Amino acid sequence: MTQPTVVISLDLELCWGSFDLSYNDELLKMGRWTHDTGAPNLLKHLTRNGLSATWAVVGAMMRRSLPDVSGLPEVRYPHFAKPWFGYIPKDADEHTRPEWFGASLVEMIRHASPRQEIGFHSFSHVPFGVRGMTRDRAIAEYQYCARIAHELGIPKSSFVFPRNSVAYLAELRDAGFTCFRDVDRLPVRFSNGMLNSLAMIWADFAGSAPCMVEPSLKEGIVSIPGSLLIRYAAGWRKFIPDSSRLRRLRQGLERVRLSRGVFHVWFHPENLYAGRPRVENVVARFLEELGVMVRNGDVRCLTMGQLAAEFRSNLAVKQSSRSSQAFTSTGQLHSPASGDGYAIGPANSVKPVPVKTSTASGADPQATNRALESV
Ligand SMILES: [Zn+2]
Repeated sequence: MTQPTVVISLDLELCWGSFDLSYNDELLKMGRWTHDTGAPNLLKHLTRNGLSATWAVVGAMMRRSLPDVSGLPEVRYPHFAKPWFGYIPKDADEHTRPEWFGASLVEMIRHASPRQEIGFHSFSHVPFGVRGMTRDRAIAEYQYCARIAHELGIPKSSFVFPRNSVAYLAELRDAGFTCFRDVDRLPVRFSNGMLNSLAMIWADFAGSAPCMVEPSLKEGIVSIPGSLLIRYAAGWRKFIPDSSRLRRLRQGLERVRLSRGVFHVWFHPENLYAGRPRVENVVARFLEELGVMVRNGDVRCLTMGQLAAEFRSNLAVKQSSRSSQAFTSTGQLHSPASGDGYAIGPANSVKPVPVKTSTASGADPQATNRALESV
C-alpha cells in the first residue's frame, strides 16, 4: 500500500468546460474571472503552503489563440449538434478574450515554486465516453495535446478526461501519456449511474469520510482514481454547508494519515467562482492544514505524474525481481542481490523507499499487470 499521500488534480478549462451545456454571459464572466483572479489565487494558496498540484489544462487554452483545428474530425453529440468550435472566437487572442485562452496563465503556473505539474484535460474538452464521440477524434485530440506538449516542452504524463468520462485508454497510452485520473472510488458503486450520483450527493451533505485509493494499471497506463470532488456552490450545490465540505476534507486527511493509501482531491479552479469566496475559503483552509501535515512528515503531497512514476518504478523492481528469481535443483529460492527500489519521497524531494519484492517465481509480467488491474 502506498505511504500516506495526498494528490490534488485541478481541471483548468475557463469557458471550454461547459460551453456545450450552457453558453451565456455568466459563463464568459466566470471564464474571465478564473483567468484573471481565480486560478492565480489558487496557485498562491498552493505555493504559500509549499504544495504541488497537477493542473490538467485544456490544450487549446494553452495557446494565445486558436490554432488550426482542421485536423480534428468533427463530432456531433445528441446534446450539442453545433460544430464543436462554433462558439470559439477565431480571431481573438488571450489579450482580447482571456475567458478562452490562457498561455500566460500556464506560464505562470509552470514557473511557480514549488513546481506544479501541467497535465492535459484533452485538447478541446469533447466528452470521450459518450455517444457521438469517435475513435478518430479521440486519437486526434491526443495528437494535438502531444504536439502542444512538444512545443511547450511539457512532459506527456497526466491526462484528465472531460467530465471524468474515461474511454480510448489504449490510444492514450499509444500517444505517450503515462497516467490518467480514473472515476471516483465510492464506498459502494451501483450499476445505476443515478444511484451513484445520489450517493455522492448524500456524502457531500452528510460530510462523510471519502475513500482512499491506490494506483493500478489499466491498458498499460496508470489509473489514479479520485477520492473527492469539491463541488461548486451554485444551484442545489450551494446548499451543501461549508462545514460539511471541510469536514469531508479533514476526514480524508485523517484517514490517509492513519490508514495509508492515496487521498485524491480534485476540482476545477472555475469552482471558486459561484458564491465566492465560499469555496475558496474552504480550499484555502484545507491547503493550510495539509501544508502543516506535510511539513510535519505526516503525509506527502505528490502530483499525479510523480505518483505514477513511483508506481511504475516499484512495479519494475517487482517484475525484475520475479524474472531473476529461480528455484535451484534443491528447491531453494534465489533472490536478486538488491530487492530495494528507490522512489519519490515527500513532495519535491527524492529519498529511498523500500519496495516489497515478491517471492513468486516464473512470473509472467503480463499476468502481473492483469493482477494489478483488479486492485
Ligand atoms: Zn472539464
